[in-house]
Parts: sequence; C-alpha cells; structure tokens
Amino acid sequence: MRFSRLYAPTLKEAPRDAEVVSHKLLARAGYIRQLTSGIYTFLPLGLRALNKVADIVREEMVRAGAQEVLLPMVQPSELWKETGRWEFYGKELLRFHDRKDSEFCLGPTHEEVITDLVRNEVRSYRQLPLNLFQVQTKFRDEIRPRFGLMRCREFVMKDAYSFDRDDAGADVSYKGMYDAYTRAFRRLGLRFKAVEADSGSIGGNFSHEFMVLAATGEDTIAACTAEGCDYAANLEKAEAVCAEASAAEPCPPHRLVPTPGQHTVEEVAAFLGLPAAKILKTLLFDVDGAAVAALVRGDRELNEIKLKNALGATDVRLATPEQVEAWTKAPVGFAGPVGLSVSRLVADRELCGATGLVAGANAADAHLVDVDLARDAKVDLFADLRSVTEGDLCPRCRTALTLTKGIEVGHVFKLGLKYSKAMNATFLDEDGKERVMVMGCYGIGVSRIVAAAIEQNHDDDGLMMPPTIAPFEVALIALAGKDAAVAARAEDLCRELEAASLQVLLDDRDERPGVKFKDADLIGLPIQLVLGGKGLERGVIEAKCRKTGTKTELPLDGFAQAFAEFRADVWKSWGLARPGE
Ligand code: ATP
Ligand code: MG
Repeated sequence: MRFSRLYAPTLKEAPRDAEVVSHKLLARAGYIRQLTSGIYTFLPLGLRALNKVADIVREEMVRAGAQEVLLPMVQPSELWKETGRWEFYGKELLRFHDRKDSEFCLGPTHEEVITDLVRNEVRSYRQLPLNLFQVQTKFRDEIRPRFGLMRCREFVMKDAYSFDRDDAGADVSYKGMYDAYTRAFRRLGLRFKAVEADSGSIGGNFSHEFMVLAATGEDTIAACTAEGCDYAANLEKAEAVCAEASAAEPCPPHRLVPTPGQHTVEEVAAFLGLPAAKILKTLLFDVDGAAVAALVRGDRELNEIKLKNALGATDVRLATPEQVEAWTKAPVGFAGPVGLSVSRLVADRELCGATGLVAGANAADAHLVDVDLARDAKVDLFADLRSVTEGDLCPRCRTALTLTKGIEVGHVFKLGLKYSKAMNATFLDEDGKERVMVMGCYGIGVSRIVAAAIEQNHDDDGLMMPPTIAPFEVALIALAGKDAAVAARAEDLCRELEAASLQVLLDDRDERPGVKFKDADLIGLPIQLVLGGKGLERGVIEAKCRKTGTKTELPLDGFAQAFAEFRADVWKSWGLARPGE
C-alpha cells in the first residue's frame, strides 16, 4: 500500500471528549472516526486491524470445532418474550416497530435467535454437540458510552453458542472455548488473565472473564499474590474471607447519643472517637419493589452484585432520598437496623456476632452506641456482601490478594438450561427420551480488543500495534527527496517484502523526513524500515522496532535473511513465537 493513496486522516489534536489513550490515539492516527455517541466508523487502518483480530478469533473457533454462521441483527420481540428478557433486559435493548407495527429489537446478544434456530432443526443426540459462532455487529444502548471503542453502543462481537446432551458434555464444550480464548488472546499479543466472574444478565451458572490488564480498565480484579496459586476473580465474584471469629465482647444495652450533623461513617467515627470498623453502614435498597436494608462494616464497601445474588433478586436499586426518609422516618444519613421496619434485613457475614457497634438511630442527628446485632436487630440473612480489598486473604490459599484493573475482552458462560428450557430446545436421547439441551455461550469483544491492545501498548508518540493486529506489519519509509534511486529501491524492496507475504505501508509521500517519522510512530506499525540516500550508498537500510525502540542497520545485500532475523526479534518482544505460528 502506498501512503500517498491511503485514506488515513491523522489529527494533531485528540477529540475533545476522548478520555483514554486508545480513543485519543486511534482518532489521531486515522483509524476511527466518531459518527455520534458510542458509534464509530472504521477507516481503512482501523478496519484492517479489526479484521485481523476477527480472523485470529475465527481461526481459533474453527480449530476448536465451532462453525461460523451469521444471524440476523434485527430480532422479533416474540423470541425475547419467550425467555422473559423483553422485560428484563431494560433500556440497553433498542426496540422499534416495523411498518406493520410489529415489535423488534437490534440484537445486543443472540441467545434467543440461536436457540430458536437449533430447536427447529436439531432432533437427535446424534446432531450434538453443536457449537455455532458468528462475528457480528451488536447494538446495546449503553447508558454511558465512553472510552472510544471500549464501551460503544454499536460494536463488533464474536459470539459462540454450544449445545450439548448433558452437563458433562457442556463442561467439555466450555473447556474447549476457554482454551480457544487463551490461544487467541496469546496470539493477539495481549497480557491477560482469566478470572472467575458473575454471570450477569445473560444468566447461567458458571463463568470466566478474560481481562486485559491495563490501568484504564473499568473492571477490578482480585488476584492471589502467592506463587503457584492462580486464583483470580472479578470484584463481584471474589469471595471475602472472614477472619476467625473471636468470642464477641458482651456489651451493655444500647443507648442513644446525639450526633448533630454527623452523616458519614468518617464523620460519626471521628465524632465518637471510634474506628470506622465499629460503625455500621446501613444501606437501603429497592429490591424488586421491596424495601431492603443491607449492613456492612463502616470501613467496607458493599457490592451490589453480591447483594443481588444473595437475595436472588432481578432488580436492585439504591433507595431514593424520599424512600429512605419514608422507610426510616428520619433524614438521610441516620438509618440503622434497630427498630427498622423493612421487608428484609441482610448483613455481611463478617458482622455475625458483632457487638459494641454504632448504628444510625432512625432519628435526626442521633446514633445508637453499644449495639449488639444479634440482640438488638433481626437479621434475616448473613451473606458475603462486601467487596474484597487489597490484602484480603485468598479464598483458596489464604495468601494476600492484590487488586488490579482490567478490560474485559472475553466472557465464557456455562448457561445450563436457562434458555433451552424456556424455549423448549429439546432432542431425543439414545434411550428415546426427550431431553433439554445444555447450553454455553461465549463472547469476545472484537472491536474492544483493538482498543485494549493500545491501552497496553503505546507511548507519547503514538500506537504500538502488536504484529498480529497491526494493519500493516512494516512501515517502509523512503527518504527519497529528489533522489530517484532511493524511490526506485524502496519500490523494489516493497515488492520483495510483499512477495514474501508481508504487508507493507510504503511512505512514498513528498514530505519532510520528520513528518514521515512522526506519522510512522503515531500509526504504530511494529517494524519501521528507513531507506535514505546515504544508506543506499553504503548498502544499508535502518530497521526499528516500534515497541522496544531498538534500531539496527540491515544490509541491502542479503536483506531477506537479515530482515527475517530482525522480524523474529520483533515478534519475540511481543511474546509471540514466530511469525505465522
Ligand atoms: P461489560 O461488563 O463490559 O458491559 P458484558 O458483560 O455486558 O460486558 P458480554 O455480554 O459478555 O459483555 O459481551 C461479550 C464481550 O463483548 C465482552 O466481554 C466485551 O469484550 C464486549 N462488549 C460488551 N459490551 C461492549 C460495549 N458496549 N462496547 C464494546 N464491547 C463490548
Ligand atoms: Mg454490559
């Protein structure tokens, strides 16, 4: 490809709303353009990168025995009503009517459509297991589209769905996908971690997320620091281990103390001269329409997903100030469990047997001290409700956990019977009995990976694209000026490299060297080759690895061999074995 012909409109400044580096650089380097909030155009460089990610993912899916299909993006509401998700999915589902006034949505995911397809065609155990996948544009009307390609409304996903005869078969399919994901993310040059995850609104009973480790990630991962222990889980899932309960100190009857204007845990703790751990945090929620109070220690954070799972609820919302005032009969900031009338009172299990606590008095400007939770309140359920923090103990080996940030690029779920049962996807087993298929679903954020790779690999000058994702592998910069011999030699080299199946972007523009170098660094192709008049006279060309910055001169005589060695080193710097493998 000739740079002079390439449609890659670079920008001096990043778009004003761009917060994260991948968004800034992808826009500046002419990979993408925003159409409207959360909706992007892929320009030639961006599309080449996107397609490379998709192709590697496809290869690994096919290697694992999955077959590619392309399901419709427009989906009728009837299917979604069968599984109950027409109501449950909420506002992320973009719904509309056709001219006959039938209801439709744009697919945010395809469990319903694929289950419908398979239930209509698969009759016998002989047709199972079956794994179908697609690479397709999804639409989710995200509440806060942001971070460029990371959280879009329209984005490209690979989604696969497996159908098995039984649980054991589904486990094999799950493992196959887990391994395929591991291979794909390795080949893409990403530093990642598979973590235990919550199954979210897709539902089901078992799941792992694949996280690209990057400071800008929206997700927090708790990982064990012990050598040899690979426990890692996202914050919604990471189990908080309780310290061994020591016999609780008995405490005198609780009494009311005035705490004028002291609302937060910190304020109350400072006012009473007690540690935050002794203050009860009472949080009120509207859970599927009922009032629920949840208690955690003052120095802990309640995790809403844990709360939702503990209650088996579908919709958990923090109570509005009006609800808090109606339920506690006090201003916001003074809720407490003693004498509170809510439909359920739940507490973090760490509070089991706790005494000598301070709690809101459900009255303005007052708290209760010397609260004994068992004696003074009626807790309906103790459960793991809090988020783990740095230094909490690993639930497997009891070593300290550490928290890191990650970007979720893939998710594997064992769905079980959730969709197949609701939609009656059955088959006849060997014994002639009708059985429900056991399903799994597996997503990869193809477009998000382009951004995630950049979050991990960039510098002040621009992108550093992994060789397997880069739109071209080589930037061949001809510093020809008026020197026709340099231009001609660069053309020859370009043809030679292309003949060896390399993808080359030849900078043949009539620009100053500084401009060309700047653009090459910005666009971030992994290998830069620079041919100038002096080098040509000496019979050498300069090669630079964009990632490490290593520069070396390669002889033009015997170039192919020298280049192959340099290229292998570049791939090695990405942790990639050998080109093509
Ligand atoms: P998240 O928690 O980030 O919203 P999710 O759990 O909704 O993700 P899945 O439904 O499992 O995501 O989708 C599969 C993959 O699609 C995710 O792992 C992620 O990489 C990608 N993905 C999900 N939502 C978006 C989005 N709004 N923009 C870009 N990629 C996305
Ligand atoms: Mg989501």
